Amino acid sequence: MSEQQTPVDKLSLEQARAEIEPLRTQLTKWGQEYYEQDNPSVEDYVYDRAYQRLVALEDRFPALKTADSPTQRVGGAAESQLTKVRHEIPMLSMGDVFSIDELMDFNQRQQDNRDVTVEPEYNLELKIDGLSLSLVYENGKLVQGSTRGNGTIGEDVTANVRTIKSVPQTLPEPLSLEFRGECYMPKEAFAKLNAKREAEGLPVFANPRNAAAGSLRQLDPQVTAQRELDTFMYYVPEYEKLGVKTQAAALDRMRELGFNVNPHNRVVHSREEIEQYIAEYTGQRDKLTYGIDGIVEKVNDLATETALGNTVKVPRWEIAYKFPPEEQATIVREIEWTVGRTGNVTPTAVMDPVQLAGTTVSRASLHNPDYLQEKDIRLGDTVYLHKAGDIIPEISTVDLKKRPATAVKYEIPTACPVCGSTLVHLDDEVALRCINPMCPAQIKEGLAHFASRNAMNIDGLGPKIIKQLWDKELIHDVAGLYQLTHDQLLTLDKFGEKSTANLLTSIDNSRNNSVERLLFGLGIRHVGAKAARIVMEHFGDLDTLMHAEADEISAIDGIGPTIGESIVTYFSNQQVTELIDELRDAGVNFAYQGTQTPVNPASEWNNRRVVLTGKLVAMTRNAAKEWLENHGAKVTGSVSKKTDIVIAGEDAGSKLTKAQDLGITVWDEQQFSQAMKEEQ
Ligand code: NAD
Repeated sequence: MSEQQTPVDKLSLEQARAEIEPLRTQLTKWGQEYYEQDNPSVEDYVYDRAYQRLVALEDRFPALKTADSPTQRVGGAAESQLTKVRHEIPMLSMGDVFSIDELMDFNQRQQDNRDVTVEPEYNLELKIDGLSLSLVYENGKLVQGSTRGNGTIGEDVTANVRTIKSVPQTLPEPLSLEFRGECYMPKEAFAKLNAKREAEGLPVFANPRNAAAGSLRQLDPQVTAQRELDTFMYYVPEYEKLGVKTQAAALDRMRELGFNVNPHNRVVHSREEIEQYIAEYTGQRDKLTYGIDGIVEKVNDLATETALGNTVKVPRWEIAYKFPPEEQATIVREIEWTVGRTGNVTPTAVMDPVQLAGTTVSRASLHNPDYLQEKDIRLGDTVYLHKAGDIIPEISTVDLKKRPATAVKYEIPTACPVCGSTLVHLDDEVALRCINPMCPAQIKEGLAHFASRNAMNIDGLGPKIIKQLWDKELIHDVAGLYQLTHDQLLTLDKFGEKSTANLLTSIDNSRNNSVERLLFGLGIRHVGAKAARIVMEHFGDLDTLMHAEADEISAIDGIGPTIGESIVTYFSNQQVTELIDELRDAGVNFAYQGTQTPVNPASEWNNRRVVLTGKLVAMTRNAAKEWLENHGAKVTGSVSKKTDIVIAGEDAGSKLTKAQDLGITVWDEQQFSQAMKEEQ
C-alpha cells in the first residue's frame, strides 16, 4: 500500500533535508486537523508511519532537529473559544511501539539507563481511544475539568464534565488532588451519533476519539450532556497524597473513591505475561463496548516512575503498544442510494464480502456525495476497509494502482432514486435531499415515525409490521392506517384475532391524541416533539397553523425562522393538504388538548410550587421547567410565601435572597439533579 521509501541510512544529509521539511509541515497539518478540529483527513496509521519516519530522520541527522518539530511537542493547542487552563504538572503524550520486540527493546533501554538487571514489575492497561481529561478536586468537590491542549495550556471544560454521569461531583474523602484519565464515547453511542448526524445532513465523526473530543470541547454543556460520554480514570500525578506506592494500588484507590476505572489492568513480570495480555486483548477488542487502540505498559512502582521522569514530550515510565491497523481489501461493485425519512439521500458502497474484525462486511456507508467525491471511489475500485471505532465499516483508501483502466468518475445522481424528483442541497448541508414530501421512500420511513411513542404512540405498530403493510400495498401513507380493516390485518404474518383487535384499538385510540403528536408525527423537517408542542400550544388547532405565515410561527418564543419556514413549506404542498383532509375525514383530532404527559400523582413534585433562578450548568432553564411541569410541579416566576422550593443556579440574585428571607427551602443544581435521578 505505501510507496517504497529510501531507507534512512542510505540518505545523504541533503536528501534528508529535502524530505524533512515537507514531512514536518504535513504532520503539523494532520495534527491540527486531528487535535484542534477533531476532524482528521487520514487514518492514524498513516500519521504514525509518517511520524516514525520523521523520528528516524531526526535520529540519524540530529542537526536537522528543530524545537518546533512535531516530535518535540505535545500535539494540539487549546484553540477553541473555551477558557484556558494552565497545567502545573504538564499533561504529556506517550511514546509508542508497534511490535512486541520493540516493546522489549524499550524495556531493556529503561533498565540499562537505570543500571538495573532485574526486570521490573509492569502494570498493563488498555489504551482507551478517547482524549485525556484532568479533574481537579478541592476538599473532595469537583472544581475543574480540563483537556490536555498542548500539555501546558488546556481548555476549561468543567461545565461539560459535570454532565458526564461517571464523573463524581463529590468524593467520599475531602481530598484536594488532581486525577487524570480518558474521556471517551462508547461504541454504541458513537454509532448512534453518527447515524443521527448522517440523517441530519451533518458531517460524521471519523472515530470515537474525535467524536468524544468534539463533544467535550463544546461551548454549550447541553450538547455535551446529550452525547453519552464516559470516563476511565488512570493516573494521579501526586500519588503520595493518596498514600499508594504502585500504579495498580492507585487504580484501586480511585475505584474506592467512586471513579470509573477500567477493570482490565494486570500486573506482569515477564515477556510471556506481556505477550499473553496483548494476545488476549487483541482477541477481545471487538467485544469491548468502548474502543481501544493499544495497550499501555507502565512501571508499577511509583518511586521508580518518578526516578525515570519524562522527556519534553513523553514519560519514560510508560509506553503504548499500538495494535496493527485491521484492514481488508475488497472491490466496490455498486453504489446504492437510499432515501431516509427526512429525504436525506445517502450512498452506500456494496462490495465483495470480506471478514473484518469478527464479522462479514459487504456494505459501507459513504455518508454523503462530498465524501464519495473526496475519496473518488469508482465502480470496480479495490478499496481498503477498516472499522471506524472498531464498529462501523468504512473505506479508508482506494488502491489507485489496481484501478481498472475503464473506471470512470462516479456521477452523483440528480434525481431521487425512488420518486424521480430533482435532488437538492439545502442551505450549507453536505447531504443531498429529495424534498418531495410525497416520495414513497420517505413515506414508508415516515410511517414508523408516525406510529412511534412520542408521535401518535400506536402500540404494536413497529417497523416490521409497517414493512408488511407496505409490501402488501395495504397502506400508501399515514392516513391509510385509519382505513385498515380487520380482514386485512389478519393476512399479516403471525397475526391472529387478538393481535388484530389490539392493533385496531391502538390505531383507533390514536385518533384522540392531542394534535402536537400529529404535528410531530408528520415528520416535518426541524419540527421535533418539543417544537410541535410549543407551536400547537400557540395556535390551538391544525387548521389555524396551516394558514399561518412563517413570521407568525417564527415569532413564538422557542421557535425560530428555520422551523417557521419549514412548516409553511410543508403545508404549501398540495399533496400534503390532501393528506391532511384524509386525516380529518378519518376522524383524527386536530385540536390541542394540553400536555398529555401523565403526571404521576405520587411524584415528589406534584403540585409543588417551584421557582428557578440563576444559571443552571448541566441543563437549560427551559429544560428544567419542562421536566418539573411534566412531574406535576407549578413553575412560577416570583418567590412568595406560597413557594415550596427555590432551585438556585450560579449567580442567583434577589430571588435567592428573598427565598432565604422567607425561610423557603433552597436547592442548588446538584441537589436538583440528584432528585431528578431519584424520580426516574
Ligand atoms: P496517544 O493518543 O497515542 O497516546 C497518549 C494518550 O493515550 C494519553 O494522552 C492518554 O490520553 C491516552 N490513554 C488512553 N488510555 C490510557 C491509559 N490507560 N493510560 C495512560 N494514557 C492513556 O498520543 P497523542 O500524542 O495524544 O496522539 C498521538 C496519536 O494520535 C497517534 O495514535 C496518532 O495516530 C494520532 N494522530 C492522528 C492524526 C491523524 O491525522 N489521523 C493526527 C495526529 C495524531
